[in-house]
Amino acid sequence: MKYLSTRGDATERGFSEILLEGLAPDGGLYLPTHYPKVDEATLARWRVLPYAELAYEILSLFIDDIPGEDLRTLTHKTYTEAAFGSKAIVPLKPLEPGLYLEALSNGPTLAFKDMAMQLLGNLFEYELKRRGETLNILGATSGDTGSAAEYAMRGKQGVRVFMLSPHGRMSPFQQAQMFSLQDANIHNLAVQGVFDDCQDIVKAVSNDLAFKRQYRIGTVNSINWARLLAQVVYYFAGYFQATQNNDEQVNFAVPSGNFGNICAGHVARMMGLPIAQLILATNENDVLDEFFRSGSYRVRKSHETHETSSPSMDISKASNFERFVFDLLGRDGERTRHLFKDEVELQGRFSLMPTEAARIASFGFVSGRSTHADRVATIRDTFERFGVTIDPHTADGLKVAREHPLPGITTLVLETALPIKFADTIREALGHEPERPAALAGIEALPKRFTVVPPSVDRVKGYIGEHC
Ligand SMILES: *Cc1c(COP(=O)(O)O)cnc(C)c1O
Repeated sequence: MKYLSTRGDATERGFSEILLEGLAPDGGLYLPTHYPKVDEATLARWRVLPYAELAYEILSLFIDDIPGEDLRTLTHKTYTEAAFGSKAIVPLKPLEPGLYLEALSNGPTLAFKDMAMQLLGNLFEYELKRRGETLNILGATSGDTGSAAEYAMRGKQGVRVFMLSPHGRMSPFQQAQMFSLQDANIHNLAVQGVFDDCQDIVKAVSNDLAFKRQYRIGTVNSINWARLLAQVVYYFAGYFQATQNNDEQVNFAVPSGNFGNICAGHVARMMGLPIAQLILATNENDVLDEFFRSGSYRVRKSHETHETSSPSMDISKASNFERFVFDLLGRDGERTRHLFKDEVELQGRFSLMPTEAARIASFGFVSGRSTHADRVATIRDTFERFGVTIDPHTADGLKVAREHPLPGITTLVLETALPIKFADTIREALGHEPERPAALAGIEALPKRFTVVPPSVDRVKGYIGEHC
């Protein structure tokens, strides 16, 4: 399998070449040259596999430059009961007939980012060792990505992490999770700005090819293809648990921000997984809902980005979205480059032509938005009716899922975090504290290790230079 860029650079690269990269040299995102099609017999064979083995099967369709035995070792080392809390790795929790939560948040940082990042840590260590190289990972986070990356990379040989987060905007629990890490290879930079400022700095540094080369800068942000690929696996795993045979369809409802999670669902669907609807849920930051309803994509400015109670979805510009648009446009790299480089980068928006927008439905996407009041009501209702406590992001997903029922089709709502990470909202909704895993008692009181920086590309480059 080879990879190309969404912006028309047709140079074909192998998986190992793009594994450690962020954007393609032309500013686009990497995608496989085609989606391997999974037939009925393959689905039947996969249905009974344990998660680590299913992950190996799916990954091996997209990775042909790591020996199969090594890849299998990596997936089995990653997806263990010890790390993810159950044999199923992503167990389903039934709510009512035809409606499940798929639990993706039982990894080390209690959010679904661990599903991909734990694998990425092992892939990076493997590939760097194979090449005899080192890497400095630069990332931006509004919370969950950063902690998942740090817990995946801490103590790994040959890897340093420089993680930018919006100063004072993460929950106390998220800050404690990240900033309490004392590993020497982990650097927390608290940027005086919002998440998009952090993301812009990462993009600017990554676009400075000389700096990138000199300091061996890599990324683990959601634009990383390997992360997206790892996420494809749990769509299959969820499907197999929710169905009896392979002619049944399901819906997935996905609390969305940077469009990474649901883009993996799109890939699974393109491979032939019987997904009826991909239900995209946003919070008040509804750029994506607006697009799927209107065919117009209008990124928001920093000051237009709402600070909400589902903060990991507080984005104004969805970094993976270009991948879907490329597929929607029949993989026309010229047109994609025009929309994102000439229109989004210069004018902050584009509108699809009506003939282009009309194709959206055939990709299974529908969408909706949810507000703080919706989250609180959904958390309360779910607790009262089912005795299940959900976090605010999952609540956004569940709220929007209920707006898109299809007769006879089961819906899986992806649970993207555990409620303990967002205690304020749980207290507001339920009047009591969310349950806290014993291992995390008192984490907020631990000493914190972080450096505050202004939203300046040069200051971040300076910090990296001093610490390499
Ligand atoms: C990252 C995150 C999301 C959004 O996922 P995307 O891949 O950015 O769309 C939703 N919920 C939680 C808890 C997250 O951490």
